[in-house]
Amino acid sequence: MHAAIYPGSFDPVTFGHLDIINRAAEMFDEVIVSVLDNCNKTPLFSVEERVNILKKATEDIPNIRVESFSGLLIDYAKSIDVNIAIRGLRAITDFEYELQIAQTNKLLSGGALDTIFLTTSLEYAYLSSSGVKEIAYFNGDISKCVPDFVADMVYEKYRHKNDKRG
Ligand code: ADP
Repeated sequence: MHAAIYPGSFDPVTFGHLDIINRAAEMFDEVIVSVLDNCNKTPLFSVEERVNILKKATEDIPNIRVESFSGLLIDYAKSIDVNIAIRGLRAITDFEYELQIAQTNKLLSGGALDTIFLTTSLEYAYLSSSGVKEIAYFNGDISKCVPDFVADMVYEKYRHKNDKRG
């Protein structure tokens, strides 16, 4: 069985991520979408919330599993016995960073973990989770960026934050 991990922050998942997930699901028997629990970042959504959002957003795709992990990707990949990671590439600006991570993972895993890159579909090339959050923070329209239920949750988060600020 050929499985692959799609790791990321997914804070929150966008149509760009979902496009990669759909395409990867057609290439592999199973795709494990893995939310990174990174204590160096302050996310908008907790890991549990991001996992639940991803589960709901992918509920129609049978060969998707959603999990979370912390620590090094190579250790997590080894623990679930998977040796392919998928990453999305939007623009040349992603390339240098992604290449560095992929090569580091290959080296650290003793050659075990390979990374496969899927290029973004053009209509999502501009999309990023941070962009979505910035637009929502200023009450802009994110309906073309994320599923409706995700948009509602993002607006709700900022409503609470703004209420607290008074
Ligand atoms: P990270 O913090 O690990 O970069 P992200 O959730 O931002 O996590 O992204 C996860 C993966 O999805 C990365 O490989 C990223 O390049 C890719 N990605 C993000 N947005 C898009 C998009 N609009 N189209 C294609 N790939 C994307």
